[in-house]
Amino acid sequence: MTTAFDQLADRILSGATATAEEALTVLRTPDAELLGVVAAAGRLRRKHFGNTVKVNYLVNLKSGLCPENCNYCSQALGSQAPVLKYSWLSKDETLEQAGAGLRGGATRVCMVSSGRGPSERDIDKVVEMTSALKEAHDGVEVCACLGLLKGGQAERLKAAGVDAYNHNINTAESNHDNIVQTHTYDDRVDTIGKAKAAGLSPCSGLIAGLGESDEQLVEALFALRDLDADSIPVNFLMPFDGTPYENTWELSPTRCLKILTMARFVCPDKEIRIAAGREMHLRSLQATALQVANSIFLGDYLTSEGQDALADLEMLRDNGFVILGMDDAAFDELIEEHRARAAGRVAGGCGSSCGDGCGDACGGHDEQDGPVIRRRGAGTDVAANA
Ligand code: SF4
Repeated sequence: MTTAFDQLADRILSGATATAEEALTVLRTPDAELLGVVAAAGRLRRKHFGNTVKVNYLVNLKSGLCPENCNYCSQALGSQAPVLKYSWLSKDETLEQAGAGLRGGATRVCMVSSGRGPSERDIDKVVEMTSALKEAHDGVEVCACLGLLKGGQAERLKAAGVDAYNHNINTAESNHDNIVQTHTYDDRVDTIGKAKAAGLSPCSGLIAGLGESDEQLVEALFALRDLDADSIPVNFLMPFDGTPYENTWELSPTRCLKILTMARFVCPDKEIRIAAGREMHLRSLQATALQVANSIFLGDYLTSEGQDALADLEMLRDNGFVILGMDDAAFDELIEEHRARAAGRVAGGCGSSCGDGCGDACGGHDEQDGPVIRRRGAGTDVAANA
């Protein structure tokens, strides 16, 4: 039986664009019809991306201590979340962390720093790190995420070999001032424009679960379509204790899946990345979500821990996906390496998904309790989850 969603997919495959009304209908699909709408959107995903998944790896260059007041952020001014706080990683530390992600299967390294925006000296550091990364890892894609850009900074990053610049709009313009007051929506759009004008691939996305309405989610996605973002990270609010959103749970797994499905209909040929909050909010629907999304972060997030990197890779393999840029044999080899490493860890650790070094004190991670603060990888002496 052909559904209205199949017909919508047919029209989009023929070159039409989804309307706001159609996007709202997707978002409000009854759960009983969810698989049908996912299958229809999946046709768009397959047309543009086949069964590939782009694997990205975050390196938090500078954590916490931010003067901005983004309410959702564990690194913001006033946040009491006990996240790691450190100033800039050195070039060698950055290379080590990025190398772990690339060996783990990532092809893009996302170098992120907290703060309103970079100084010229900060840009110097990122320029140097990028040159070293490109020299050490042939073909690596580098994305920088350093906050609001000033004139000329995007050009400097581009000249150094940075491929993409991330700056999320986060939410609809009509909701922006409810979540942050120290900068404006227009400030954010301006930075995306500067990145694009300098020839950097614009990466911009949103955070769902911030009290926005259905209409505002549609508004945000249409804004991203208008901005022509090449990659769209869809984050699901991680309600850190010690932030204004602590104990805010607006999302369900099916709601998250509908948001991603709507994103695919609205932006059929763009990279839709399932970003922070994937494990916590999609839960057992993570793999189903990859039928519409085509990109994930491997391992951990900026200030919180994701599921074990091996679980990420096995999820892709079990569901018939391949890592973009890697053939089947190399993917199998990668999984075997991860299994061997995990076996070594289990022999000396607690056996939960939390990685090395937690010992007997670890009770395992219950993600329903809220985000698990990252205590490994960048800024620590503990091996990265990659
Ligand atoms: S989102 Fe970025 S700018 Fe906003 S508080 Fe967090 S680190 Fe600072």
